[in-house]
Amino acid sequence: AKDRGRDCHAYYDSQLNERAQRRSALREALERALSERALYVHYQPQLSAKASEVECVEALVRWESDKFGAVSPEEFIPLAEESGLINELGEFVLNQALADVQELNRRCETDIRLSVNISAQQMLDSKIVSKIREALDAANFSPEALTLELTETVLIQEFDRIASELRTLRDMGIDIAIDDFGTGYSSLSYLNRLPISELKIDRSFVRDIDQNKYNRKLIASIIALGKGHEVRLVAEGVETSSQAILLRELGCHLLQGFHFARPMSIDKLIDFVGYGDHS
Ligand code: C2E
Ligand code: CA
Ligand code: CA
Ligand code: CA
Repeated sequence: AKDRGRDCHAYYDSQLNERAQRRSALREALERALSERALYVHYQPQLSAKASEVECVEALVRWESDKFGAVSPEEFIPLAEESGLINELGEFVLNQALADVQELNRRCETDIRLSVNISAQQMLDSKIVSKIREALDAANFSPEALTLELTETVLIQEFDRIASELRTLRDMGIDIAIDDFGTGYSSLSYLNRLPISELKIDRSFVRDIDQNKYNRKLIASIIALGKGHEVRLVAEGVETSSQAILLRELGCHLLQGFHFARPMSIDKLIDFVGYGDHS
């Protein structure tokens, strides 16, 4: 039994070791990917619930590594945050997305908005506001057509400073969305204290609304809360037509999910917007 215990321990250690090794190898590869421009951006449409027209697209970063294959952002974004690479990564995504959506609107004669994820770590960068302003200027992109998606974790640290930066961004005309709404720890009181323009209902609530009465009620109350604050309501993770119908009936403004479109390259997006019937 003593031996077995030792074996277990050794097994556990070697597993920990393997994970730590993968993380540090990934971190190095990510740093190289950034400097070699091996990252790219995909776009997922958000459609108006009423007309099923593309109103906005969310930029989602992608990484296809020679060594590791396609690595999920769920895995490499946290790594980028820990190692400080997130600022550079975030700038790359913003610049690329502004240029791509500009091109999309020019080619399709549309005025589709852009939504970009900003990590908590990026908001702690004291130059974040000027970086965003410069990126918009450089791309000649209207601030009114940009939404920044933040999760509630951003509000845990340095609330007052971040609140004032969000107000500056809002005053420039940029929309602020709370991403994964309902999954965070913060108090709802920030809805009154921050210039929020949009709530994104987390896909964990959307997943089983057609079977689960509780989740349906939960979404109805999130929508009521959002309407009380006059914010835009976006449902993410819409995978079936019955979910789409329910969310439309409940009064959601925009719908996003595999039922309508998966994240795609800018070329595919231009085709999708140009020729699509999206209902
Ligand atoms: P998120 O911001 O909540 O993005 C939505 C995620 O849900 C995306 O995963 C998207 O592909 C996926 N999704 C969309 N529709 C559906 C659906 O109908 N069903 C299911 N099951 N999933 C759906 P993705 O692209 O793997 O991104 C994961 C997370 O990584 C994002 O979650 C976001 O937190 C982070 N992320 C992605 N790109 C960026 C970025 O450029 N910057 C930052 N800071 N974070 C990013
Ligand atoms: Ca998001
Ligand atoms: Ca989300
Ligand atoms: Ca999420």
